[in-house]
Order: sequence, then structure tokens, then C-alpha cells
Amino acid sequence: MAVSVEGLASAVKGRVVEPSTPDYDDSRALYNAMIDKRPAAIAYCLDEADVAAAVRYATEHGLPIAVRCGGHNGGGLGSIDDGLVIDLSKLNEVTVDPGARMARVGGGSTLNKVGISGTTGVGGLTLGGGVGHLTRAFGLTIDNLVGATVVLADGSIVQTDAEREPDLFWALRGGGGNFGVVTSFSFRCHPVTTVLAGPVLYNLDQAAELLTWYRDFLPTLPDEVSGFFAFLSVPPAPPFPEELHLRKVCGVAWTQAGEEESDALREARSFGTPLLDGIAPLPLPMWNSAFDALYPPGDQWYWRGEFIREIPDEAIAVHAEHGPAMPTWKSTMHLYAIDGAAGRVGNDETAWSYRDAVWAGVFAGVDPDPANANAIRDWSRSYSDAIKPYALGGGYSNFAMDEPDRVRGMYGANYDRLARIKAQYDPDNVFRVNQNIAPAL
Ligand SMILES: Cc1cc2nc3c(=O)[nH]c(=O)nc-3n(C[C@H](O)[C@H](O)[C@H](O)COP(=O)(O)OP(=O)(O)OC[C@H]3O[C@@H](n4cnc5c(N)ncnc54)[C@H](O)[C@@H]3O)c2cc1C
Repeated sequence: MAVSVEGLASAVKGRVVEPSTPDYDDSRALYNAMIDKRPAAIAYCLDEADVAAAVRYATEHGLPIAVRCGGHNGGGLGSIDDGLVIDLSKLNEVTVDPGARMARVGGGSTLNKVGISGTTGVGGLTLGGGVGHLTRAFGLTIDNLVGATVVLADGSIVQTDAEREPDLFWALRGGGGNFGVVTSFSFRCHPVTTVLAGPVLYNLDQAAELLTWYRDFLPTLPDEVSGFFAFLSVPPAPPFPEELHLRKVCGVAWTQAGEEESDALREARSFGTPLLDGIAPLPLPMWNSAFDALYPPGDQWYWRGEFIREIPDEAIAVHAEHGPAMPTWKSTMHLYAIDGAAGRVGNDETAWSYRDAVWAGVFAGVDPDPANANAIRDWSRSYSDAIKPYALGGGYSNFAMDEPDRVRGMYGANYDRLARIKAQYDPDNVFRVNQNIAPAL
């Protein structure tokens, strides 16, 4: 029987989409087409008061809530069957104060609006931690968060930063959507316009040699240079040369803040005999959205994450076995560097508790064809399972499916404090469609 949302449309100012609305299917679609959820309603809230009204309506009517920003979450945690989706896409205003080097970003913005990357939501990415090409230089996204406006489970609206509601501010920085709906983020900005960036790709038979060199070399680099190791297939499109299209390769995608080539980057590029060296000066937003066209919404995704501190020779052998077995050309494995500035923050300074990891690994099975769903899932699982003995016991919450059994591991030693803060701010677990932290009651 359909869940009633009578009175919702008059409780909020924004548009409300219900199953009978003609664009219901478009409206409920998520980035990951593997997930198919049918909410009772989607409320396109217009401002923080509207978000508060939607939260109150749902709690008063016993409707479960999901909060959607970019809808990119792998596990589809921006939506819910038979519940209310609070869609934040109208809260997408970005204001920059260049003098103060600060930006205020609406809680429903996508990253292309702030010049970081593509269609992923600022909301989910930031609340999970936020890893990017310049993480070694400037830290995680949360390390640049200085304040937020939050709608709490009781519908009240609070400002939080290091001084105001400090426990909430601590928990927001990595704890996901567990504590409230963030309607606005305030970020510290860095004056970077152009980067020297691009992939350096190698034959698959060089994978073990490349990874052995990379694991020793990466941690020695100055913060302004970073590179993620990857197994991938060469995209079948320019600027990649046609003879390499769809060829399985390994490589490192390098990024250096600033245009003048450093000795470190020069040394990175001189390793071995690459098939392709695609490093070039690029505006940072262009580099960040370089792969958007290859990964449009609507593909099937299955991914897992692991935090990694060391890559012993035995782990290199595991990578060399599983990486080349990518089941489809869009499937990929990345080891994102999270040392440098991000690694100098203490494990207990924010909710993100793996500052001693050097890499956040992601094992992403991707394909447009639902017939390949099992193949991409099996590869992602077997590869990440095989790496687990060499990982830290948890993975990045944003590189996960809906995996309730792994949530404790995602937060490690910070889990118990998060559970206490959850009990303080959301004792009834109103915000539970996320990597859910149960309130410590
Ligand atoms: C193509 C692609 C590229 C990616 N690249 C990166 C990357 O470079 N770095 C990285 O760190 N991650 C990356 N990710 C992972 C990404 O961070 C997660 O998928 C994240 O969950 C997406 O956030 P979203 O807002 O789009 O998702 P949604 O599905 O809208 O939301 C995800 C979760 O966050 C909660 N949430 C979202 N916004 C808010 C808010 N304002 N207030 C409260 N709760 C909120 C939701 O309730 C839900 O639980 C990428 C993902 C994809 C698919």
C-alpha cells in the first residue's frame, strides 16, 4: 500500500514529487543504477527552514528520512524505499570571499560548482572526509572545513564550528550524515589555479615493478606532489592515442600544485618506460572533472574501500594478480595518497580516524550493462578481500556500499565517541540512511 504523504506539499515551500508525479522515475534515479529505490516522496527543499519543516513532517508522521545531495553514494544512501527523500539540490549557492580566502557552499552543491570535481555532491563527500588530488598539499576536505549550518533531528537549526557545538563539529568531519542535515558549509580556500597533472601509463607486465617503486617513492615526495596508483583500461576517447584504447594498463595519475615542474615530479616521470606520459599544465577544475564524461550517471557500480599504511611484497603480488583481472573496461583500482598534510592531523582531532594510513584504496567495479552486475561485484569483493590482510581494518566510508557490518571498522577508535555524540544529537536515529552509527544509549 502506498505510504501517505498528505500535507507534505503544504508543509514545505519546495516542490514535492510523489509516485504519481510524471517525473517521479527521473527524480528518484540515483547515480548508481544498481540501486533502485522507490521513496514515498522527494521534497526539493528551498532553504534551511524548508529542510527543518521536512524533518519535522517526517518525524511527526513516522516517515523514515534519507538526505540527498549529489546522489552519488555507491550504496544509494541518498534515498530510501517508502520514506521521504530530502533533496538539497536547490541549496546550491556558492559565495567566495577572495580576500578572506573563504567559501560558503550550499549543502546541496555539486563539486563542479566549487571547482573540485564533477557531479559528486559536496555534502556526502565532505561529511565522509573528502579525498582529492591535492590532499597531500592541503589535507582532506574536512581539514578545510571551518563551520557549518545544521538542521538537527528535532528540526532546530544550529551553527557549528570549533567554538560552537564543538562535539558536533568534530563528528561532522568524517562521521557522514549521522548528525543532521548540513545546509551550508564554510571552507578555507587555497589559491591554486593551474596544476601540472596527468597519467603516466605502463604495460600491465610492469605492474609489480611499478607498484614496488611507487610505494617507496610516494611517501618521500614533498606535499605539493601527489599521485595515485591505478589499474585501469585506457578510455576509448581523445586525448588517448587510438592504439591504446581499451588496453588494460597500470599507472600513476600525478598532480603537482603549481606550473613549474619540480625535481620530484621530474623524477616521478622518469621511472621505467611508459606507454604514455600525459602530464600537462591544466586548470585544476578541468583535471578534477577529466573523467566525468566516462562515468556518467546510470552505470552499475560496486565498490569497496580499504585504508592502507604499508604495501609489503606479498600485497604487491595480490595487486598484480587481481588488478589485471578487471572484468569490464570501466572497472578500476585506485590507491589515493592521504599522507602529507592530511597525515599530520591527529587520529582523534576529527572523526576520520585513519590519519596514519598512507593510502585510501578503492576497488571499483563499473559497467553500463546490468548483465555484468555480478561480475563487477565479484571482482571488487575478491580483490578487496585479498588485500584485507594488508589493510588497517576499515575503509573510507565514501568508498563503500550499504555495509552496516563494516561501519565500526570505518571509524576505528573514534566509533565510541561518535556513538555518544549521536546519542546527544539524534537519540532516535532519525538520520539513519547513511553509514549508520547507532546512538550509544
Ligand atoms: C564518480 C565518482 C567520483 C568520486 N570521487 C570522489 C573523490 O574524488 N573523493 C572522495 O572523497 N570521494 C569521491 N567519491 C565518493 C563520494 O564521496 C561518495 O559517493 C559520496 O557519498 C557522494 O556524496 P553525494 O552527496 O553525491 O551522495 P548522496 O548519495 O547524495 O549522499 C551520500 C550520503 O551523505 C549524506 N548527505 C549528503 N549530503 C548531506 C548533507 N548536506 N547533510 C547531511 N547528510 C548529507 C546522505 O544522507 C547520504 O548518507 C566519488 C564518487 C563517484 C561516484
